[in-house]
Amino acid sequence: MRIDLHTHSTASDGTDSPAELVRNAAAAGLDVVAITDHDTTSGWAEAEAARPAGLTLVRGMEMSCTGLGEDGYPVPVHLLAYLFDPSHAGFAQERERLRGERVARVRAMADKMVADGLPIDPDAVLAGTGASAGRPHLARALVAAGVVESVDAAFQDLLAPHGPYYAEKVDTPLATAVRLIAEAGGVSVVAHMKARKRGRLLAESEIVRLADLGLSGLEIDHPDHSDPDRAALLGLATELGLLRTGSSDYHGTNKTIALGACETAPDQFEALLDKASGVPVIAS
Ligand SMILES: [Zn+2]
Ligand SMILES: [Zn+2]
Repeated sequence: MRIDLHTHSTASDGTDSPAELVRNAAAAGLDVVAITDHDTTSGWAEAEAARPAGLTLVRGMEMSCTGLGEDGYPVPVHLLAYLFDPSHAGFAQERERLRGERVARVRAMADKMVADGLPIDPDAVLAGTGASAGRPHLARALVAAGVVESVDAAFQDLLAPHGPYYAEKVDTPLATAVRLIAEAGGVSVVAHMKARKRGRLLAESEIVRLADLGLSGLEIDHPDHSDPDRAALLGLATELGLLRTGSSDYHGTNKTIALGACETAPDQFEALLDKASGVPVIAS
């Protein structure tokens, strides 16, 4: 059984439509795939409608949160949320707020570029973002305009936190997110917390605190995690009784990682299903 619990579609910053995503997942030999776009469930319906027979679809989301970094300062954290009830009022309201933050942030960054004379059209960038506007959309616009050579180059310089056009967005505190996901019957898993090349890391003491508040798991096998970091995370998850997941974080052709590049063990997937009560997986 091959299980990949973290993928993106064009509903956020992937390049496969939700329908292409599920078809590609089946073609890649996966038995289970989760669709986890950033801060949106807008890809769920299309993925469900296009799901090939035999592929189990897990409806999820990757939520933009903020936690305490190793250095004692706030740090952005991605929290995977699975099988929650999308109509739960408190959680739906927070997702709506996050979507507004994303649009305002991309608008602010694009406006700064225009003010500097860069050939970027903020309206056109935002029109192409779907339900989950983000820096990758700005990166692609910069590539298309010939300002930078690649999406990676844009992220390393113009779009970086220390770069000239960066704007903040106000993400959800981790503890609030864990509580809302649990209230909506979902399962929460901290994504790629040792992805060192992305910047500063979340303090491990936060995981201890969140485990008490209802955090369900840690994403351990991820393309951006080194072997020693995977081992350390395995120790932490075991100590705290947390689920251990693995996943590709597939983004289509935006990144070079293939579907199924990292996988979740079947027993961990079963344990995840046991904890969920929001919406069922879609199978058969
Ligand atoms: Zn992420
Ligand atoms: Zn992701």
